[in-house]
Amino acid sequence: MIPKSGYRFSAKIMRQQKAIASKAVTAATLTTTSANRARGAGIALVALLLAACSSTPDNRQVSLPLPQSSAQTERLPATEREHARILASYSGAYENAQLQAVIEQTVDRLVAASERPDLKYKVTILNSPAINAFALPNGQLYITRGLVALANDKAELASVLAHEMGHVIARHAAIREEQAKQAAIISQVVNDVLSDPQTGALALAKSKLTLASFSRAQEIEADGIGVGMSARAGFDPFGASRFLTDMQRNADIKAAGGNTDPRALDFLSTHPATPERVQNALANARQFSGPGAGERDRTEYLGVLDGVVYGEDPSEGFARGRRFLHPKLGFTFMAPPGFSLDNTAQAVLGLKDGGGEALRLDVVSVPAEQSLPDYLKSGWMENVDAASVEDITINGFPAATATASGEQWSFRLFALRFGSDVYRFIFAAKNKTAVVDRSFRESVATFRRMSLQESEQVHPLRLKIVSVGANDTVEKLARRMAIPDQRLERFRVVNGLVPGDRLKPGEKVKIVVE
Ligand SMILES: [Zn+2]
Repeated sequence: MIPKSGYRFSAKIMRQQKAIASKAVTAATLTTTSANRARGAGIALVALLLAACSSTPDNRQVSLPLPQSSAQTERLPATEREHARILASYSGAYENAQLQAVIEQTVDRLVAASERPDLKYKVTILNSPAINAFALPNGQLYITRGLVALANDKAELASVLAHEMGHVIARHAAIREEQAKQAAIISQVVNDVLSDPQTGALALAKSKLTLASFSRAQEIEADGIGVGMSARAGFDPFGASRFLTDMQRNADIKAAGGNTDPRALDFLSTHPATPERVQNALANARQFSGPGAGERDRTEYLGVLDGVVYGEDPSEGFARGRRFLHPKLGFTFMAPPGFSLDNTAQAVLGLKDGGGEALRLDVVSVPAEQSLPDYLKSGWMENVDAASVEDITINGFPAATATASGEQWSFRLFALRFGSDVYRFIFAAKNKTAVVDRSFRESVATFRRMSLQESEQVHPLRLKIVSVGANDTVEKLARRMAIPDQRLERFRVVNGLVPGDRLKPGEKVKIVVE
């Protein structure tokens, strides 16, 4: 999204196509066994279908049936499915104990100052550069690291958390559910995704939107509740108006960069920082105190941001053309010609131009004593042709391959032992000719360990907190930003500065470094 965009080769197209790939993957979802790590994978795989998981679509509705599952996909409680769906959509959880502690302390203070001090919240930081936060009615609170990185003090952070808690306290989701018959919306989304790949991306985007599409009146109510909570908890109640303004300026920079990806939905898509809303936030705040009265804790907050990942995180895997590299797991492979790849939290998905071929790669644990040919025959997928199972070696790694067939699709499967895990490839083709089958085999033959050099070339960008020196200016510090474009604008926005603002020596500011 921001720098390193080269890593996200044709990301936009891939995202549009992902919906189609999801279709192929859906069926794979239904074929997961519940052994070993598959419990986690099962949740994640179910989640892959995003909205679809909420209504557990019937296997037969899927128009790309993979072989029937021999094991039932686990039935999860709705809240767990929702949690899994959110993790899948926002690149999983971001583990950072210090940041987690600061957010939880902020939430605890807000809860104590709220009308419902009895409610319990559980915070998840999402490993996404998007700017977003939302809450589920059960008190699950989500906040992206992108949002955390944009905030400049605890009062701004508190303003967003308190707004989301305001939705929970006012039971907006319950009201919305009754009014909008959420189930109907979700099944519509499922139909959109499954029946019309062209609008699939839009449908996925919509499914995300259903999380937070409250009415304007509900948003205003949540703003009011939020500012009240922040002020009573001792935070500067002007954090809300400042942060709304910063989010809008951040979005303006992104828009100027031509980012119109329908999936780049963030807090502002559902919470536009309209002048009316900013005015309301200011008016709400003035009821509690004059500017500067509440706590901001800027220095402490910025201290916690030091080292936080900024932008996309390539260490979790990325595609460069049809090559996929995963620095953390240390492997790489090349998809067949014509494929585009997309890295999701659970699997790598690939789709060939035209949609007639797809691939999926995931990782599972298989006991060391189980041979891979046995594993292929053990029911990971049904309709595996037992006579086709071959024991092979790929670049020195033990592996096995087999074919399987469905009604409209044919499959070539691989299981490959790499380290203590087994990597599973499913290649699917509507028309699996010998040439196509060979291209699948050639693709897996490119699987290998990443070289040290390849690993060393990959770093995520990180925030660094620096003290303003006696001779530093906004312009001078902006030149230290390790991003290719709009350094000055981005430096200002990330630090909540407007043109004309000056820095004081000794003050802390954020820069982005490699
Ligand atoms: Zn809201």
